[in-house]
Amino acid sequence: MTHTTTILTGARANNDLHIGNYLGALKPMVDMANTTADKYTVQLFVPDLHSFTTEVDHETLYAMTMRNVKTYIALGFPVDHPNVYVYRQSFISAHSELAWILDCFTSFGELQRMTQFKDRSAKIGEKRISVGLFNYPVLMAADILLYGAKYVPVGDDQSQHLEFARDVAIRMNNKFGNLFTVPASVSEQHKFFGNKQGLRVRDLVDPSKKMSKSDATGKGVVFLNESTVSARKKIKSATTDSYSVVSHDYTKQPGISSLLDVADGFGGDSKEYIATHNYGALKQAVADKVAGFLADYQAKLASIDDRRVEDLLLSGEHAMQLRANETLDRVQRAVGLRAR
Ligand code: ATP
Ligand code: MN
Repeated sequence: MTHTTTILTGARANNDLHIGNYLGALKPMVDMANTTADKYTVQLFVPDLHSFTTEVDHETLYAMTMRNVKTYIALGFPVDHPNVYVYRQSFISAHSELAWILDCFTSFGELQRMTQFKDRSAKIGEKRISVGLFNYPVLMAADILLYGAKYVPVGDDQSQHLEFARDVAIRMNNKFGNLFTVPASVSEQHKFFGNKQGLRVRDLVDPSKKMSKSDATGKGVVFLNESTVSARKKIKSATTDSYSVVSHDYTKQPGISSLLDVADGFGGDSKEYIATHNYGALKQAVADKVAGFLADYQAKLASIDDRRVEDLLLSGEHAMQLRANETLDRVQRAVGLRAR
């Protein structure tokens, strides 16, 4: 395998993805993969070991993992491109093995300072807080360092973890020589992936807040697995305002502005709708665009053969195992677990 510069991205999906997740997170990732795959090695991994740091339904976990992969395929991730590898974390044992070694070069205090751990463990409240949740950044560092990945698209909530991956890599390189490729810094990541402030699709009922799967009524959110009839209904009853002007201005007209962005996101032309100043026509256009997308996505998802997914994963895992083991072997020698 040629070692071109590697882009690594995690395939996190769940059953209740909505159009906000799609436009704000998944679509940019799919677009990025499509534009970079010719020049870079693009790795899409399913973080199945990360998926039960907090409580999950273990009976359905495996099926969920497979469904996640299908979701990315249906959304157009270029999985068949020769430079693209799709694999499950737990199928490459080097992730767990390197995580343990990195653990021993990580201080307790370092992980205690991670804001995501603090936030998430505070939310869990009285229930058990697992060591896995505490340790999550170390496994994430292993995910990155095993492949010498330089570019990892990280949201704000993950940038501290990326900094940690860099710190532990530099620490071990200082001690043992050139063990790891140090991933690019957060600011370089933003430069590489484009630093545009992510789109925030608004709740259809209350446009002062963002669309979210935790919406209590479910009326403000359109899910990717929702019927087109129901999606149209929700969009047509979206809260707007009484200005009777279609303009892109999130402070004055958050509802209208979000509809315009959704229209653009699904291939419409917001300028066309701005010219009309007609809320009904705008909603109709957005409903059409979204319904068209949902119908197409759902049909694609249903048509993906299980066998094809298995084959795709097995070939990705085979290739990645070789690469990961190369790194693990180098580390094992360095720390004295193998003969030098
Ligand atoms: P929760 O309500 O549980 O926080 P959520 O609906 O906000 O769920 P997340 O799972 O938190 O979704 O987010 C997954 C990804 O989707 C993140 O990258 C997040 O930034 C993005 N995202 C979430 N909601 C929106 C939205 N309304 N518009 C654009 N991007 C969004
Ligand atoms: Mn959220």
